[in-house]
Amino acid sequence: MGDYIVKCVSCKAIQNPYALSCDCGSSLLRSEYSEVQLNLMDLPGMWKYCPWLPVHGIIRGVGEGSVTYRSEALSRELGLKNLFISFSGFWPERGALMKTCSFKDLEAPPTMQRLREQNDVSTLVVASAGNTARAFAHVASVTGQRLVLVVPESSLHRLWITGTTNPENISLIGSKGDYFDAIQIADKISAQEGFVPEGGARNIARRDGMGTVMLEAALAINGLPDHYFQAVGSGTGGISAWEASIRLIRDGRFGENMPRLQLGQNLPNAPIYCAWACEELGAVAPECMYDDVLFNRRPPYAMPGGVKDALGATGGQVYGIKNEEAHQARKLFESCEEIDILGAPGIAIASLIRAIESGEVRPEDAVLLNITGGGVSRLKEELCPEMLKPDFVASNYEEALEFLGERSSQNLNLKS
Ligand SMILES: *Cc1c(COP(=O)(O)O)cnc(C)c1O
Repeated sequence: MGDYIVKCVSCKAIQNPYALSCDCGSSLLRSEYSEVQLNLMDLPGMWKYCPWLPVHGIIRGVGEGSVTYRSEALSRELGLKNLFISFSGFWPERGALMKTCSFKDLEAPPTMQRLREQNDVSTLVVASAGNTARAFAHVASVTGQRLVLVVPESSLHRLWITGTTNPENISLIGSKGDYFDAIQIADKISAQEGFVPEGGARNIARRDGMGTVMLEAALAINGLPDHYFQAVGSGTGGISAWEASIRLIRDGRFGENMPRLQLGQNLPNAPIYCAWACEELGAVAPECMYDDVLFNRRPPYAMPGGVKDALGATGGQVYGIKNEEAHQARKLFESCEEIDILGAPGIAIASLIRAIESGEVRPEDAVLLNITGGGVSRLKEELCPEMLKPDFVASNYEEALEFLGERSSQNLNLKS
């Protein structure tokens, strides 16, 4: 499975498979799989796409995949003939069984599997506004991987998991400030010996994991869609959908149609929208956003292989969506499709509504709407998730490092 090389998008030089960057500059690296055609493996969930994932094995018990179905009610409401919904979350009636209810459940499993393959005993460090932390915590609770999560204090309410409630291998650090401050603390921790960063948009396992949304959809639709709608913060999911589409076109069995990236950002924190629309970015705070999991101050935009290239190559668009619009769109979706969804996908739905109004999307176009998270209420009915409690709240990285130092010496004392 997964025979691949890793190349710099910019200079094409072959890299160490675990590298995150190339000496030539800021370019992203990309995996190139030896199997040009996607041959599914007889494995559970997302692992069936292993030939196009940068892993040589799987983690049993995690790795549920996304599910694509043809919409009826919302499709009728919007006047579309070919609306397909990709659902990442918990919705057993449709076969969606993600335990932390967002498409971050597609990023954590292959990332953790790669650490295992490197025999890396380092502690993985992840900064997150909530959904990513939850997904990594879930996988780590199954594998025992040592993990440090840095999560803004205001996002700690998102840190529930099912199953083990107090895994000793996980340190949860609440951080003062916003997601960007959490990233900076995590960067400082992961630069210490014994820690590794997860790599964000630079991590090919995250991108190719999210890319399985497009693989699953192309198989369900039996071809590539005309449009791909997604709410973005960093835009990594957009890059992933583009990369997966390149592979599917090369496969030859899914047509030559490059799906147009239709990305939605939540105003006022919409750096991708602002960069795309050439507007001035004012100073903004995450508190006024509809879903602050989309808050991001430094998305992988202009680097080779990044969001700007993805938009250019696909003839894409970016929409700036206000809270009220997102809220209305979310309500419309929930009443039509009869499942609760997170705030972020409301921004994708509102973008679709805008695109229909402007004539950008025509009634007969094949549209893939990525519902990036949902079914939390549905999951709570069935699986009784419990909150992870923060082990420490840090105002800066010095405090965080001191705490981790004390914790590891305590662990050593316990062992001796
Ligand atoms: C992370 C996240 C997004 C945005 O993902 P990108 O990394 O910007 O592509 C959208 N929706 C949900 C639910 C998320 O958790």
